[in-house]
Amino acid sequence: MVTTKKRELDLSEFPPGTVTEYTTLVCLACIFDIFTKQLGLAPRTAFSEIKRHAPTIEELTQSGAIRPYFDSDEKAPHCPYCGSAKRWLARFDTYCIEGRKTTDTARRALLKKLPKADDQFLVIEKKSDSRAVFFDWLDTLGRNLDLDDERWLIDATRMYLARREPKTNWDEAFAELRAVRRSNRLTEGWERDGARLFLAPQLYSEAILIQYLVSRSHARGGLTLEGRLTLMEMIRRLRYGGYLDQIGITEREPSEVFEKLIDYLASTHEWTTVRTASGSDRVTGKKKASVRTPTSRDSDRVVSKKKSKKSSKSPKGKAAQPEPDVIISEAVKLHYVVDRRDFLEKVKSVYASYAG
Ligand SMILES: [Zn+2]
Repeated sequence: MVTTKKRELDLSEFPPGTVTEYTTLVCLACIFDIFTKQLGLAPRTAFSEIKRHAPTIEELTQSGAIRPYFDSDEKAPHCPYCGSAKRWLARFDTYCIEGRKTTDTARRALLKKLPKADDQFLVIEKKSDSRAVFFDWLDTLGRNLDLDDERWLIDATRMYLARREPKTNWDEAFAELRAVRRSNRLTEGWERDGARLFLAPQLYSEAILIQYLVSRSHARGGLTLEGRLTLMEMIRRLRYGGYLDQIGITEREPSEVFEKLIDYLASTHEWTTVRTASGSDRVTGKKKASVRTPTSRDSDRVVSKKKSKKSSKSPKGKAAQPEPDVIISEAVKLHYVVDRRDFLEKVKSVYASYAG
């Protein structure tokens, strides 16, 4: 990430965890080279083509960028393809806003404020689903934590709780905190006692799960406040602690339990208001109905990253039954705001030196 941010967008109105920021650098020397040498355009034509250039969302948000794009954390980055220095490099800032009830007002206000001239900002909408959004969130969370410092377990817990209950002031609840513990007394919510934070069993179980998910891709995988756990150990704990019953997961097969857990965590955006004690309406996602038809459900499944789905291959022939109570991905709309201001300015100044 480049630190010289002169014109940050004000995102303070958005609940925590609902906006993800990406920065991608683009080498204008490489772009001009592609347009003039490879495509044979005159500099003037190349200039007007380049000005209109809009990268794809993938180019802006995924790691492993290809020429002329690249990622760099250095203060004085150089193009990895041609070695060009800073004045040839422009950056795109991309903000991905999760479309949900709690972000609607802030999003509309933000879009209204953006300058309209010269396509300084692009706004792109993309359909996604709760699983993909959840995995992206986990990914970003993992990259922002220092997994070599055990403090990350507490930080991950805080970020999860902030995502789950955005209205609570978690900064205050976590100030000077030393430990997070499972409460034997509380049935819901949390309480602070000295330097310790006690979470109701269900919240605590979810915090552990998030820690497991964040760290399982790291070196030895699966570090939690309960120590290092394999998936089997994790599930056993959740089962005996009553968590699986509580959220209505009755499957025995670990991979099926895991899939259900992911869907459950992923679909819980506004769940504090829809949660009831009975298992049957445990996930009352607002858009669930719209993704229940076989076709859109299938496509939702394709979008979800990783993991092959085993549920349809159930040995007990469950697949043929209607699945009234299945938790599945909810459709989520993502709103990407691409800041092209730096790009437009640099293209102009580079062209001036290029043509002159
Ligand atoms: Zn270059």
